[in-house]
Amino acid sequence: MKVLLLLVSLCLFTFNAYSETRYISADYLVDVTNGKLIESPVVVVIDGKIGQVSRQDKIEIPADAQHLELNGHTLVPGLMDMHVHLTSNANLHGYKRLASSVPRTALYGVTSAKATLMAGFTTVRNVGAPGYADVALRDAINDGDIIGPRMFVAGPSLGITGGHCDNNLLPSEYKAKGQGVADGPWQVRAKVRENIKFGADVIKFCATGGVLSKGTKVGAQQYSQEEMNAIVEEAKLRGLVTAAHAHGTDGIKAAIKAGVTSVEHASFLDKEAIKLAKKYGTYFSMDIYTTEYILGEGEKAGILQESLDKERVVGARQRESFTQAVKAGVKMVFGSDAGVYPHGDNPKQLSRMVRFGMTEMQALQAATINPATMLKKSDELGSIDVGKVADIIAVKGNPLDDISVMEDVQFIMKDGVIYKQ
Ligand SMILES: [Zn+2]
Repeated sequence: MKVLLLLVSLCLFTFNAYSETRYISADYLVDVTNGKLIESPVVVVIDGKIGQVSRQDKIEIPADAQHLELNGHTLVPGLMDMHVHLTSNANLHGYKRLASSVPRTALYGVTSAKATLMAGFTTVRNVGAPGYADVALRDAINDGDIIGPRMFVAGPSLGITGGHCDNNLLPSEYKAKGQGVADGPWQVRAKVRENIKFGADVIKFCATGGVLSKGTKVGAQQYSQEEMNAIVEEAKLRGLVTAAHAHGTDGIKAAIKAGVTSVEHASFLDKEAIKLAKKYGTYFSMDIYTTEYILGEGEKAGILQESLDKERVVGARQRESFTQAVKAGVKMVFGSDAGVYPHGDNPKQLSRMVRFGMTEMQALQAATINPATMLKKSDELGSIDVGKVADIIAVKGNPLDDISVMEDVQFIMKDGVIYKQ
C-alpha cells in the first residue's frame, strides 16, 4: 500500500513538474528597465514566467521547440493602465447612467475587460466602481470565468457629501448618495476599512471637484487636509496604495502632503505642486486623451452641458501641466480614465503623451515599469525580465520610431497564455 501511495505521489509530482516552454523571437524588444531597444531578441517563457531573455545569435532553439517567430515585430511588456472604470459604459453619462443597476454595470465590465485586454493592456487599476462590481470582475477574471486584464480595484471612491464622488443628479426626496461618501476623519477611516473588508486593493478618494459631476467646481478642494491625512494613513496601515482624484491646485497639494501614492488628472499644476510631487515621490496619472472624446462625442453620450463647459477649460490646461511635469521629471504613470471613453481605445493616449513632451521610451515606461513600481509589484510585473510574469505583447514595426503602432497590437500574452496571435 505504501509503495502504491509513493508511486501515485511520484506520478503526481512528475505531472506537476511537467513544464511548458515557448520561444518567442522578434525583430526588437523594448527593454523598459534599462531604457534600451534590444535587437533580434528571443524570450523563453516557461510555465507562464519569463525564463530567459537572450539574442538570436546567442541561443540554440531546439528544432522541436514551440517557437513563435514574430518577424517584423517588436516585443513590448504587457501594458498597464492605472486609471480605468471597466464597469462604466462610455455611451451612458449623466442621467443616462442612473438606469444601470450594479449587476448591469458588472456585465458591462465583462465586455470592457475583454476589450481592454485585446488592446494590449494586461494589467489595470480600476479606480472607482459602485457596489464593488470591480471586485466581482477582478475575481471572475482571476477564477478564469471571463477574460480580462489583471485588476487592482478600489471599490466605491471616497468623497464628501455633494462632492465629485457623490451622486448629485437627483433632488433630495430620492435620497441618492454615492456609496463612498464619508465626512470627517473617523468616517473616512471607517469607509477605508469597509472598502478593504469587501475586497479593495487600492483606496481612491476625490480631493477636488470634477468635470463629469453635477454642481462641483474643478478648482475647488473638497476633502480637508485632515480628512486626506486620515484616508492615506489608514490605507497605509493596511498596506494599500492610494489614488486622489484632483484637478485644482490646492487639492493636488493637499493630497501630495497627505502622502497619496498618485494624483489623478493633476490638471491645474503650478511650480510648487510640481516641486512637492518630486519631494514626496508622488506619481501623476494624467488622462490627456479623454478631452478629445468628451468634447467630440460627449454630448451624444449624455454628458451634461456644465461638464462640457468645464472640460473646455480643463483639457487644454491639463496638457500644459503634463508638459511641465514631464520636463520637471515628476514620476508619471499611464492613466487613461477609459470608461469615460470607449474601453479598448486606451492606447490612443500614448501618442498624445509623446506629442505633449515624453519620448517614446518614456511613454512606454509610464505604461509598464512605472506602474509596476508604483504598485510595489515590480518583482512580478512591468517588464520582460527573467523571473517576471509572462505578460508580453507585440506590435508591427518599432514603437520607438512611431508610437502610433501601439494602437494596433498584433500579439497578446498574459500569464503565459496567448490571447491574440
Ligand atoms: Zn476616473
